[in-house]
Amino acid sequence: MGNWKGKPRYDLKSFAPPLNVSRSAVEEFYKCPRCFWLHFIEGWAHVSTPGYPINTGIDGMAKAEFDIVRKLGLRHRLMPDNKWRASNHADIDDWRNTWKGVRALFAKGNIELHGAVDDIWVQGNGKLVVVDYKATCSQSGKYTKEWLFETRPYITRQMAIYKAILKEMGEDVAMSGIILYYNGESRKSSFDGVMNFSSHVIKVDPAKGDMSHPDRGVERANNAWVKKITDEIWDCVNLTAPPAAASDCEYCDRLAVIPAKYP
Ligand code: SF4
Repeated sequence: MGNWKGKPRYDLKSFAPPLNVSRSAVEEFYKCPRCFWLHFIEGWAHVSTPGYPINTGIDGMAKAEFDIVRKLGLRHRLMPDNKWRASNHADIDDWRNTWKGVRALFAKGNIELHGAVDDIWVQGNGKLVVVDYKATCSQSGKYTKEWLFETRPYITRQMAIYKAILKEMGEDVAMSGIILYYNGESRKSSFDGVMNFSSHVIKVDPAKGDMSHPDRGVERANNAWVKKITDEIWDCVNLTAPPAAASDCEYCDRLAVIPAKYP
């Protein structure tokens, strides 16, 4: 058996609150409550995918670059105006640490939602801005909030979750966050071991774009949505049998079709 079979995350008999639920686990639940239930109750993880070491490397270099201006108290050229700075909050290193992150209780204290932010910037009015670095290599990116809502709604969900956690932690959070896209320029006559990146700043309020899910319908990624989905997660883990599968999942479709054709 491969490493997809792990330990169950939740067992009602031995449970002591809170249940730890990561930002990516919320995304798993959003996509399919059944897969989430099987993961948390049976320990059956979803089909694994390769890592993204190049993206992770670019994230690391972006962090190092913004740490320089953080230390010097200077504005970075990509920040929207002269009053913005990289946050020097006392907990900024913990908030960016995968093993600590930002975290807060939801679902009447039964769920602790957590995730590590890429960075936090501060506006001139003192409000904190969640920043997420993304790297891609695309000729088609428009790098507008409309493009983001339409093609990458998971990013707005991610932003909404971080904002809601920070708000629950008592922080003064700005409505909009920043998605900082680095796009690799791949149309060169020769590689020579060098790829240049263009940088694109998208200021986005996740609550202003509609998300459409075949089973959930149309929703907006605001604080109320984060509270609602964590309540649903708590209800889900307390079901005694897995809920219905997502109606548009290619994995379960294959599991049904292939054994039926080649038993
Ligand atoms: S439909 Fe099946 S494979 Fe797809 S996410 Fe849900 S349980 Fe997992």
